[in-house]
Amino acid sequence: MTVDKAMPPPEHAGKPVPRATAETAPFWEGCRRGELLFQRCRACGHAQFYPRVLCAVCSAAELDWERSSMRGTIHSYTVVQRAPSEAFKPDVPYVLALVDLQEGFRMMLNVIETEPDSLRIGQAVRVVFEARGETMLPQARPTG
Ligand SMILES: [Zn+2]
Repeated sequence: MTVDKAMPPPEHAGKPVPRATAETAPFWEGCRRGELLFQRCRACGHAQFYPRVLCAVCSAAELDWERSSMRGTIHSYTVVQRAPSEAFKPDVPYVLALVDLQEGFRMMLNVIETEPDSLRIGQAVRVVFEARGETMLPQARPTG
């Protein structure tokens, strides 16, 4: 897959959608199947996200794709009150969180279907997917 990094990101209904690269294509293909994939280093066992060519800890190139349980907890979060563009205005206020997945990697995700005031650090969440055009975007939803 060739990617022109100078091109602006593609959009769906005014919202940006990610463009897959050679490193991230397996991740986005997993999302389309409803699976959350991450990389695990064969040399040191480090679980990493986002996808990279090398292990961020030991620089080994032998990385395996594994399927996440899609369960995690909120490490931290913020409530976005001011939409970054016109397309996000109907969504505010919305929650942007750092989520620690059970397998030991961290993702930045929107927390959907929640009242921002009801969230807390350490709260359990589950990854769900939102269709945005051809792309399935991972999001988080509180559990329990
Ligand atoms: Zn490693």
